[in-house]
Amino acid sequence: MEAKLDLKSMLPGELEAFVTENGCPRFRAKQIGEWLKKGVSDFDEMRNLPAELRELLKTSCYISVANIEKKLVSRYDKTVKYLFSFGDGECVEAVVMEYRHGSTICISTQVGCKMGCTFCATGQGGFVRDLTASEMLAQIEAAQRDLGLRLSGAVLMGMGEPLDNLDNVLRFIELATSPEGLNLGARHITLSTCGIVPKIYELMSRRLQINLAVSLHAPNDQIRRRTMPVARAYPMDGLLEACREYFKTTGRRVTFEYALISGVNDSDACARELAERLSGMGCHVNLIPVNSVSGTGYTKSDLKRQRSFVNILAERHIAATVRRTLGSDINASCGQLRGNHLKKGGQ
Ligand code: SAH
Ligand code: SF4
Repeated sequence: MEAKLDLKSMLPGELEAFVTENGCPRFRAKQIGEWLKKGVSDFDEMRNLPAELRELLKTSCYISVANIEKKLVSRYDKTVKYLFSFGDGECVEAVVMEYRHGSTICISTQVGCKMGCTFCATGQGGFVRDLTASEMLAQIEAAQRDLGLRLSGAVLMGMGEPLDNLDNVLRFIELATSPEGLNLGARHITLSTCGIVPKIYELMSRRLQINLAVSLHAPNDQIRRRTMPVARAYPMDGLLEACREYFKTTGRRVTFEYALISGVNDSDACARELAERLSGMGCHVNLIPVNSVSGTGYTKSDLKRQRSFVNILAERHIAATVRRTLGSDINASCGQLRGNHLKKGGQ
């Protein structure tokens, strides 16, 4: 049997081509799109479509949904963490964070990850599969429905490496920003990467207005290679050059993520070297005390170290903040909830 078509991953033009190729007028595509936007996942609910078209959709298409397997709400702030499952039983995590200017969701782009960063729970678990564009959208839709609110932004910072699944991610961005879809502003979408340099160039060639975050986590290649295998393939000089180009091409300031790991990358010398590497770049550094993941042996830098590190950057005019750890009681750093779920014998 032929594989069914992923209806919600289709762009408006593709949906139109599908209905017209099947002998239906073009406006049927718009009607289907409206049902999808309402979150309908059962073809029988698409009441304004003729019965034959509904039958055709049932036999040849499917609608992705993200089912809530688990939901944790932080007692400290209003952070909500979800474990979602898809049609094949695979699970990913997503986190909704509330900020002054609205709520943002952190979504996953893959089940697992191939990149193997040594501090990361997702990286430790290996790779299972890419998510489709519709599965990325479904995480946003499910959270919106569950919380009864409209999310104002999305960060691709959950499980997986977005640039290792770029085609589906680009399709997701196109659908999420489309006025017929979720209508999110591109400037409210942030893609985080561990630094796959050629893919950064491919992304910037699309001239999207999305924000780029780069997981740096070290001031030089020697330290970076210890925690991030990707640094062996793509050294820092080339990575920082790509970031400068991104800023030039898109006008969007790049954010660098830097997890402070005690005794690994948090010395004053590291801070000075980092400041030198980033000087004049028009960037922002997000310092995050590393979340200890069991089995990694890493612990976060103490408060004194964090302060010293951020001060050295500030003195050298590098914009830096120590990120509030939201939802610290619910393991809000991605990969940990799914890890626990697997250990207990879940899918
Ligand atoms: N693969 C992409 C996006 C997903 S990871 C990337 O690496 O950028 C999202 C962010 O969480 C990255 O900045 C990653 O380095 C960081 N991260 C992963 N494990 C972490 C941990 N244990 N503590 C703090 N940050 C972590
Ligand atoms: Fe993958 Fe990002 Fe985790 Fe590295 S930090 S293993 S790239 S998800």
